[in-house]
Formats: sequence, structure tokens, C-alpha cells
Amino acid sequence: MFGRRKLQGRTDEQLVLMREAGLLVGRTLVMLEEHIAPGVTTAQLDRLAEDFIRSHGGIPNFQLVPGYSHTLCTSVNDEVVHGIPGDRVLEAGDLVSIDCGAEVRGWNGDAAISVVVGGSEAARPEDLALIAATEASLYAGIAAMRVGGRLYAVGDAVEASVDAAAVRDGYTYGIIDEYVGHGIGTEMHMDPQIPNYAVSETGPKIPAGFTGAIEPMVTLGGTTTKVLSDDWTVVTADGTRASHWEHSVAVRPEGLWILTAIDGGEAALEASGAAYAPVS
Ligand code: MG
Ligand code: MG
Repeated sequence: MFGRRKLQGRTDEQLVLMREAGLLVGRTLVMLEEHIAPGVTTAQLDRLAEDFIRSHGGIPNFQLVPGYSHTLCTSVNDEVVHGIPGDRVLEAGDLVSIDCGAEVRGWNGDAAISVVVGGSEAARPEDLALIAATEASLYAGIAAMRVGGRLYAVGDAVEASVDAAAVRDGYTYGIIDEYVGHGIGTEMHMDPQIPNYAVSETGPKIPAGFTGAIEPMVTLGGTTTKVLSDDWTVVTADGTRASHWEHSVAVRPEGLWILTAIDGGEAALEASGAAYAPVS
């Protein structure tokens, strides 16, 4: 017997509510980018994010995950995801990935960015290339979604984008396959799981109004990870650095709406050849 899997979409009214949550996440990340600098601790960033989200009527939804009490995940250098904010002082040249989520009026947003502390002058060239390749693969994955299409086309597009970037950049890139994207809506993590890498199945059909979080994690080496003794922090097994980018996205009959992008994804979608289709 095979399990049936029919995904449900959101109504336009629900998408408008999800946009509120997504926009708050996007604005929080923009705010944080201005504060990421040498000498700042990851706990300070976490406090800034919590204050910003709560003062704008949101709830830090990472705190709703059992056993987690922070607003952000801050993953530095060889940390891939789920780094816990704390006393770590950011140094020039560190590659930091910031994952942030918020719930507003019962609806959720989830997004992540990667940056080099101190900016591009402080960066190793391979880190800048990795960050750009990972971000590009996120938009490639997003642009692969359409109503009636198959969900796992996302992973095919992410992987094709990363593979092309590796050839172009001359670096080895590894796509993490132990962690995946997910549906999002009344909770942050909902079915279905969305692989950020190519799989042999095609996945369920995407219905109108589907909302999912796409989140490629890419390394400068292998694809194997381990979890530190804090039971959260995921690091690369080979010690190479990693980048993580994520957006929450709505799939509409007319195109896509990137709920956690400040501009709704208009610029990135246009560059990817995908239609930008917010609920107006
Ligand atoms: Mg996230
Ligand atoms: Mg997520």
C-alpha cells in the first residue's frame, strides 16, 4: 500500500496574514545585518531580534520548539544550522548564518541569511563564493515551484544550481541532505518535508496557495554532519564552513510570493525568470 499525500493550499486571506509574519522575519534579518560586526556576541543579536519581533506584535516561534529558548539560530563557520546564541564573540572574517522565525496572529514565517562578519574585505574569497552559490540555489529552488508542479523539483533545481556554481567557481560544494525544508503555516514546521537536494521521487503535486520553507545548506566540502554535545548545534564533519539560506514562499496560480523577502521576492524572481505574484 502507498500512503496518499494531497497537500492543502492557503486562501488569499490566509496568505495575507502569513505575509505579515514573513515580513516581520524579513525586517528582523535586515535589522540584524546592521548589527553583525566584530565584537558582537550571538546572544546580543538574539536579544535584538527578540525585542524587535515582540515590539512589532510577533512571537519568536523558535521558542515554541520544545527545548529551545532562543529567538535565533546563529551558526558560525563550520556550524551548519541550529547554533545556539551565547557568549561567542563574532570576529572579522567569520561566516555567520542567522535563522529567524516569528509568529504573528497565529501564522508563521521562517527565513535565514548568511554573511561574513566585517563584510567582503574581511572575507575569504571561498566564503563569499559559497554564500553567493547557496543564495542563488535558494532562488533556483523557489523558481522551480508552480501550481500543478511536483514539490521535489525544488531539490532538483537547488542541486543543479549548486553543481553549476561549483564548476564556475572552482570550489567543492556539498549539499547537506540530513536536514530539509518544510511546509509552513499555522505552525513553523509542518508537513510535507521538502528536500533541498535531488531525490529519486517526484513528490506531491503543489496546490494553489501552497506555502513552504525552502532552505539549502551548502558546505565547502563534504555533506556529512554531526551534532555537538549541546544536542543542537550541527557542524560539518570535515570542519569546512557552511552557508544556509531560507525563505518562506507561497505558490499562487499566477506565480510566486516570497513571504519573508522585504520586496516579496519581486527582484529575485524576475532575475530567475519566475513570475512575481503577491496577493494584491
Ligand atoms: Mg529557519
Ligand atoms: Mg525552516
